[in-house]
Amino acid sequence: MILIVDDSPENIFTLKTLLELHAFPTDSASSGEEALKKTLRNSYALIILDVQMPGMDGFEVAETLSGNNATKDIPIIFLSAINVEKKYITKGYSSGGIDYVTKPIDPDILLLRVKTFYRLYEQNRVLNQMQDSLRLEIEFRKAAQKEAQAASKRKDEFMSIASHELKTPLASVKAYVQLLDRSLVKDDRIKGYLDRTLAQINKLNSLIVDLLDTSRIENGRLKFNETFFNFNKLLKESVDMISQIYPDYKIRVSGESNALVKGDETRLEQVILNYMTNAIKYSPDIRELELHSSVQDGFLILSVKDFGIGIPKENQADVFRKFYRVEGTAQRFQGLGVGLYICFEIIRRHNGKCWLESEVGKGSTFYFSLPIANPIAEN
Ligand code: ATP
Ligand code: MG
Repeated sequence: MILIVDDSPENIFTLKTLLELHAFPTDSASSGEEALKKTLRNSYALIILDVQMPGMDGFEVAETLSGNNATKDIPIIFLSAINVEKKYITKGYSSGGIDYVTKPIDPDILLLRVKTFYRLYEQNRVLNQMQDSLRLEIEFRKAAQKEAQAASKRKDEFMSIASHELKTPLASVKAYVQLLDRSLVKDDRIKGYLDRTLAQINKLNSLIVDLLDTSRIENGRLKFNETFFNFNKLLKESVDMISQIYPDYKIRVSGESNALVKGDETRLEQVILNYMTNAIKYSPDIRELELHSSVQDGFLILSVKDFGIGIPKENQADVFRKFYRVEGTAQRFQGLGVGLYICFEIIRRHNGKCWLESEVGKGSTFYFSLPIANPIAEN
């Protein structure tokens, strides 16, 4: 709609007739004040503004319009009895949508200008509409993303609370079973049951601990208790532990591991044990493991090699991902698919790397590296 502002009703009438003849919808105001009121209520494509009016003149109206966000972009055609230089026409008016026509009005010239502004207005309107719908789309997606993040956070929190809550009753079940075990040592059959119960409790416990670790990683709450220690000692203790649990496995250890490392000993032990228990789990036929350590370019590298089922090339890059299990292994071997994910995080946080080599049917070698510490330089 076009707003015609003029103090003379005859002028308004003439312009209205001319414009409506050419299918432009119009509205009118007989003073600057009325025009301002109307622009606040309606939206106009163009304002045709008489310069000389009693009260607020055309320039003042334009000045006020330019100060308001909702109206500052409405183009204006000034009507003036004398030829006004453009630079006098409101300094503040930003849109550049300003023109002037001298009185007496030449209808053709006025129409031409109105058409130009109207076309611009239409184009702007379409652009704005597009922009609005884009903005809506973006907001919609942002909201969806936020909701997804919130849901994922709730899931993490649930996992964290659930695994935490499971730990306590499990610990007391374990304690009672151990008590029973001690008081019923005479009956071998019952003792056998109890031993199996304890083994299952331990399994359940390590599942819960793994879940808790996973959720700690997710929440950035996996904390390390760092000290300097000799890697050799850690390696030996880990191998001893595995040898006790799996006495029928032959574990060969070679290489150089006498190096000082800075880190969380318990967490790094967890990595070695994880590599070894995987190696044992995924090589059901050949009961042999080879561990090799070496020192290269300031890093200590440990490898755990098995002669088991191996991992297809296309799955190798994924095994360190959370909950990832190579297809086909899930049916044959139990697991959550978080062991290597936790290892990867622990090693990454110690500024080391994890990687592997593997061939289906022949076996796998899992590696990790750790920077060798220099306590003198660090202190
Ligand atoms: P858990 O969380 O109890 O450790 P998992 O052993 O399945 O379960 P990861 O230790 O993270 O999980 O290992 C991920 C997957 O990588 C395994 O499911 C298995 O498919 C494959 N994998 C890991 N180690 C070996 C290995 N030594 N030989 C063959 N496949 C392996
Ligand atoms: Mg595992």
